[in-house]
Amino acid sequence: PLMATNSIMWFRKGLRIHDNPALEYARRDSNHLFPVFILDPHYLEPDPSAFSPGSTRSGLNRIQFMLECLFDLDSSLRKLGSRLLVLKGEPFEVLVRLVKEWEVKKLCFEYGTEPHYQTLDKQVKEYACSVGVDVYTPVSHTLFNPEDIIEMNGGTPPMSYQSFIKLAGKPSSPRTTTITSLPPIGSICDVEMLRVSTIKELGYGEITEEVFSPFKGGESEALKRLRESLDDKQWVASFEKPKGDPSVFLKPATTVLSPYLKFGCLSSRYFYQCIQDVYKNVKKHTSPPVSLVGQLLWREFFYCAAYGVPNFDQMKGNRICKQIPWNEDEELLAAWREGRTGYPWIDAIMVQLQKWGWVHHLARHCVACFLTRGDLFIHWERGRDVFERLLIDSDWAINNGNWLWLSCSSFFYQYNRVYSPTSFGKKYDPTGKYIRHFLPVLQDMPKEYIYEPWTAPLSVQKKANCIIGRDYPKPVVDHVLASKECKDKMAEAYALNRENNGIVSEGDLKSLR
Ligand code: FAD
Repeated sequence: PLMATNSIMWFRKGLRIHDNPALEYARRDSNHLFPVFILDPHYLEPDPSAFSPGSTRSGLNRIQFMLECLFDLDSSLRKLGSRLLVLKGEPFEVLVRLVKEWEVKKLCFEYGTEPHYQTLDKQVKEYACSVGVDVYTPVSHTLFNPEDIIEMNGGTPPMSYQSFIKLAGKPSSPRTTTITSLPPIGSICDVEMLRVSTIKELGYGEITEEVFSPFKGGESEALKRLRESLDDKQWVASFEKPKGDPSVFLKPATTVLSPYLKFGCLSSRYFYQCIQDVYKNVKKHTSPPVSLVGQLLWREFFYCAAYGVPNFDQMKGNRICKQIPWNEDEELLAAWREGRTGYPWIDAIMVQLQKWGWVHHLARHCVACFLTRGDLFIHWERGRDVFERLLIDSDWAINNGNWLWLSCSSFFYQYNRVYSPTSFGKKYDPTGKYIRHFLPVLQDMPKEYIYEPWTAPLSVQKKANCIIGRDYPKPVVDHVLASKECKDKMAEAYALNRENNGIVSEGDLKSLR
């Protein structure tokens, strides 16, 4: 048996008590357990030059959501006789200092598949090994260990969803042990602790509540939301994406559990098992890829691809990414980002993204297609950056994977199928309730013109108190012409990719511009 020791549970994602193998291991045979969260100043520093409040890396919504997760985790830990120790600084340096000061013998944290964690964790493990600290890093953010899948597939990740699920099989069950108490924290010596901060204490000044997302962070909220979503068994059994309505916002058409999965407030294995429990009690249910379980498997699929493909988050040097001569246009990019393309459906989505940090999956499809191969022909990496900063569910593997998909750079190649920025939304919301809510300037535009307000006669615009070109922009491009041009450019680029086996030089790309 191990000798009683001092242990650190290092929380990063995985901000939960349930189904948390690292926490379980950390508490075993420990006389003192230090639950730690390290705030990285690079991630949090206010950036006054950013186009919306927040740091360079994250919109204010996600920072607030993360703080709510930490508050909740702290209060859960207190109920178990412990608490969350929050520190600020460069994570590696902080850890080294803590290991020394607290005479730590055991360090536990969830395995991270992203490049950022791969680099950091390698450094941490090397250090721990050199000073004889036992490290435990279970895979618990995803249902499967991407490494296992890649190995089963002969060394590379499966590139289609169907081949992925064939290989993956059934995930292991979540832990059922309920943690009822934790070892006390030991003396923290003279290490400086922060309280779980508020957004104000992080230097963001006075901010009113209304600016924040309606979705609140934390494990308690995640489990409540999960129960509410799964209560309606018929809804779960008949869940079929992409059939949901992207324009309903008061009660979204999907679970909105993504931000909780992102921070690990909700265990994906527990979510999976709860859905299986619902399926057992209904006569029939939908199947992957469209079912709710199917959605969780999409998450796994992208995690696996992202783990196994070098340079997954860029076009250059990414063997699964078509090389396409995207345009650079700062003005068009800013119009898209700030919701001023003149296409109300697109702009309303971008405003919801900024205000809520979450939009429906099909809404993401529409704006991602519009920015890239649909209308503006701007690089998917630029759109990815905007999403990465603004989404509260912002997730490196899933976000990059979906941008590759939507821009027809990988996974999906039917570039002739373009979302119409006017008629797509109209199918769901003919009177434009969604647009009116997020773009109040168009509040009084008659429904005949709400998707194409520039076609309204001046008298109608006057009556609606919204002159196009003054109060709301004219369209930045003509969709019919722009989408035609985009398709032509995609065709040329695809031909070049085929001829050159996907190895297209900078010069080749220039020749297409
Ligand atoms: P539900 O439909 O209730 O699905 C349940 C869970 O399944 C989700 O919470 C999510 O974890 C997973 N899931 C659902 N759809 C997908 C998908 N297409 N790919 C991978 N996992 C999926 N999702 C993120 O979590 N983070 C991102 O950064 C992100 N960026 C995206 C960027 C683009 C351009 C697009 C088109 C989609 C992106 N998605 C992202 C995927 C998807 O839109 C969201 O996961 C989903 O809308 C979240 O809402 P929900 O929790 O209500 O989903």
